[in-house]
Amino acid sequence: MADLLHDFHTHTFLSDGELSPVELIRRAHVRGYRVIGVADHAGPGNLLDVVRQLVEACAFCQRHWDIRALPGVELTHLPPIAIAEAAREARMLGAEIVVVHGETPVEPVPPGTNWAAIRSPDVDVLGHPGFLSSEEAVAARELGVFIELSARRGHSLANGHVARACLEAGSRLIVDSDAHHPDDLLTRALAAKVARGAGLTQDQVDTVLNENPVALLERLARRKEGNLR
Ligand SMILES: [Zn+2]
Ligand SMILES: [Zn+2]
Repeated sequence: MADLLHDFHTHTFLSDGELSPVELIRRAHVRGYRVIGVADHAGPGNLLDVVRQLVEACAFCQRHWDIRALPGVELTHLPPIAIAEAAREARMLGAEIVVVHGETPVEPVPPGTNWAAIRSPDVDVLGHPGFLSSEEAVAARELGVFIELSARRGHSLANGHVARACLEAGSRLIVDSDAHHPDDLLTRALAAKVARGAGLTQDQVDTVLNENPVALLERLARRKEGNLR
């Protein structure tokens, strides 16, 4: 249990990643993953195609390899007012995990995106939220939205800030690769370094790498049973 690898945020060539969904999942499995979320950049226009293809690829991989593959989307650069509806649509199309591309310090993501993501009932993970406010971190705790520490260059610049805000608020953190290339996939050692580098103690690292991913999977299971709201 202690060395299971979870990663809820990766990309394929259905958006700007390099690999096909099947190859990404296969390489993750070889790397030691037992759970992978495939969350390609999506929004109005490509939501249907992305979700449909990922649902098929994830189901195929789960039949052949011992890995849980979650089809999903990362809602990216949408006007905040459109996020809740896009998340609901993704869910209805079959997305099992909905990530929102948060207010990273390295891109002009619309201000208000973090808030809109946290308050959208169909969003599970706020990715790389940059300068997350303490009010947002408290709301994430209350609404059960998971906040991401990112292993990705650029997005990771604010990890220390994100970790502090979430630890103070009691909201739950996870570490994701945001992989676009096979070399970006996590190892346990890299995930631990991301968490330690964000300022977490060893106990907090253990919680973030072991307990929180299980709690997120439980949230997804409750959602599937219709018991989340
Ligand atoms: Zn992103
Ligand atoms: Zn991403």
